[in-house]
Amino acid sequence: MAFDVKDLGRSPGSMRTLKEHVPAPGDLGVALIGVQEGSDVELDLRLEAVHEGILVSGTVIAEVTGECGRCLDPLAYDLEVNVQELFFYEGIELSDGEEDEEQRRVEHDVIDLEPVLRDAVVTNLPFQPVCREDCQGLCSECGVRLEDEPGHHHEVLDPRWAALADMAKPDRQN
Ligand SMILES: [Zn+2]
Ligand SMILES: [Zn+2]
Repeated sequence: MAFDVKDLGRSPGSMRTLKEHVPAPGDLGVALIGVQEGSDVELDLRLEAVHEGILVSGTVIAEVTGECGRCLDPLAYDLEVNVQELFFYEGIELSDGEEDEEQRRVEHDVIDLEPVLRDAVVTNLPFQPVCREDCQGLCSECGVRLEDEPGHHHEVLDPRWAALADMAKPDRQN
């Protein structure tokens, strides 16, 4: 996802838009959810030359797919994230504070948007994805989808079950 910015000519104030569809790079996600490699990512960005470098700002839209952490149903939605990132020109001295952080650089008049995309997308993925906020998930006893069976529950009335439950207690003597 490298883009040439030579045309901006290091002259502060010059700018252009970057509207493009690119294939998603691999490994863009977390355990249960992410952007499929090769799927369409829409860039709607503005590249602006400023004194220290190239300022990239705008939105990125990617299709997120994964599964619900409760019921394991597949889920998919479009994720739109705002990005704003300054790529420093080579040779620009950074102040002390800035040197501590990892800074992006314009290298040979090219900026690489992949790490920017990665940061923007991954930090906006839910840690615990759910198909719906009120997803009831699966029964912890038998794995049935609770939504499919309203009122589903397990009675432990059978004495054999009660005995088993009793035996499973860790504090049972002998
Ligand atoms: Zn669910
Ligand atoms: Zn059950």
